Amino acid sequence: MLYTEIAKALLAPTDGTFRLENHDPAWTGTKELQALDGKQLKKRLKDYLEEQREHLIDAQEELYADNRYALLVIFQAMDAAGKDSTIEHVMSGVNPQGCQVFSFKKPSEEELDHNFMWRCWRALPERGRIGIFNRSYYEETLVVRVQPELLEYQRLPATPAPGTDEFWQARYEDINAFERHMSRNGTVIVKFFLNVSKEQQAERFIKRLTHPDKHWKFSMDDLEKRTQWDDYQAAYQETIAHTSTPWAPWYVIPADNKWLMRGLVLSVICETIGSLDIGFPKVPPAQMKLFNQALKTLKAETGAPEKKTVRSRKK
Ligand code: ATP
Ligand code: MG
Repeated sequence: MLYTEIAKALLAPTDGTFRLENHDPAWTGTKELQALDGKQLKKRLKDYLEEQREHLIDAQEELYADNRYALLVIFQAMDAAGKDSTIEHVMSGVNPQGCQVFSFKKPSEEELDHNFMWRCWRALPERGRIGIFNRSYYEETLVVRVQPELLEYQRLPATPAPGTDEFWQARYEDINAFERHMSRNGTVIVKFFLNVSKEQQAERFIKRLTHPDKHWKFSMDDLEKRTQWDDYQAAYQETIAHTSTPWAPWYVIPADNKWLMRGLVLSVICETIGSLDIGFPKVPPAQMKLFNQALKTLKAETGAPEKKTVRSRKK
């Protein structure tokens, strides 16, 4: 696969050495891609995306038939990085019965009455399914870290003292332990940070403001968050450095080119499912015998051609 190597380079190290500054949001791909002009590049990337989508459809079917593992895909990003459209591309074409998307907004009163993981826990995918989180419990070390006054609504115990280093450390530890538990029980987790640049975000906001059918996508809150850009980058830096683990790695995806971003995301998802020891369930010999009898009965009833037989899977 064209992007397998690239995707590996986008993996955040799992030993705490991650540095966000080493990841360029405007990265334009391999030399081969850089040699193309704008139009050719878009076509190449769109073709690649289409190819990946076909792979994903097959991979999802196998995951569903095998029914042992679940895949949890987490998306986090600054506004206008393209979470929604990336999710749309991941979803399009896959069997809706095997895929679910949950978006996590500001917590409700009921959600605040529970621990911060509760609402996400309830939304986890069942075995055989792909679950997508559009934002997640990671908001608890991102927006909440940038706006610690949000902790007041959480009615937390006195220790570890909310907002202290010890407190954030405890949150990272809890998240890692939770993800480890999930992974040990068959939920494979991949996490994407769609890394958009501040310049590209401004361009996309301007587009939203100047196109009437994009107005609904803009909120004044987005501009407020933009003024805290550096604080958010610092919160992402800390979060990814502490929570990229061998059992739940973060991928930092350059997001300034949307087609490149979507292709990379799909490629990582396909690779992840592809690396699992899954397969279509094998039909035991006794069952095959029954299938043969059933086919015989149906042939006698319908006059279907004699040459039709019950075949077992090659793989
Ligand atoms: P869009 O792309 O449509 O803007 P969005 O994911 O930004 O999608 P919004 O309704 O604009 O959706 O924003 C959801 C808001 O909820 C975000 O600002 C996010 O930071 C906030 N949020 C999510 N989880 C939490 C949380 N646990 N505590 C506080 N705020 C949260
Ligand atoms: Mg928003």
